[in-house]
Amino acid sequence: MPDFWQAVEFSHMLLEEHIDKGDMVVDATVGNGHDTVFLANLVGENGQVISFDIQREAIENTRDRLVNNKILDRVKLIEDGHQFIDKYLEDEINGMVFNLGYLPGGDKDITTGKKTTTTAVEKGLKLLKIGGIIILVIYTGHPGGQEELKGVLDLAESLNKQKYNVLRYNFINQGTSPQVLAIIRRK
Ligand code: SAH
Repeated sequence: MPDFWQAVEFSHMLLEEHIDKGDMVVDATVGNGHDTVFLANLVGENGQVISFDIQREAIENTRDRLVNNKILDRVKLIEDGHQFIDKYLEDEINGMVFNLGYLPGGDKDITTGKKTTTTAVEKGLKLLKIGGIIILVIYTGHPGGQEELKGVLDLAESLNKQKYNVLRYNFINQGTSPQVLAIIRRK
């Protein structure tokens, strides 16, 4: 039974349904590396994961984790902001995943932000293949979190219904700072 009671697990369930061996996917926020490792296993040895983080700590910890799992060969780790994705990628992608907020166990003042996140989503949409998905796991508890949520939802809501399925997945009893998922699928 897949676990859809937690935001990250629900995002992984969706990725499992949409990402195949040999696919090209982007992890826009490496953080502690869970998504990058998960995606690297999904795409297999002929696929590719392009992973971004602005913190060296996140990149280096994840590199070690990938080496230990013997899956570094299919992952490109980029120490730069995801808003610059077009500097690194021209090929079409099957998926892109964001895990917003701050690095757990790291500096809580370094967070994702409304402008950079929405820029990255807009650029990701231009690269997205038909049938591809963009998933954002959004945390709202930190300063700027609510504003970032609004920016992402405004962008998602504005997308053409002929071209995209857009879904918002809420945990509706989590109080004032719930986790929210935004999911965009190119039809
Ligand atoms: N809140 C999540 C984890 C988020 S990690 C949880 O609790 O599981 C978010 C990561 O995004 C951090 O490692 C941070 O360094 C990174 N980040 C922040 N701004 C970024 C940007 N513009 N481009 C790429 N990564 C960024």
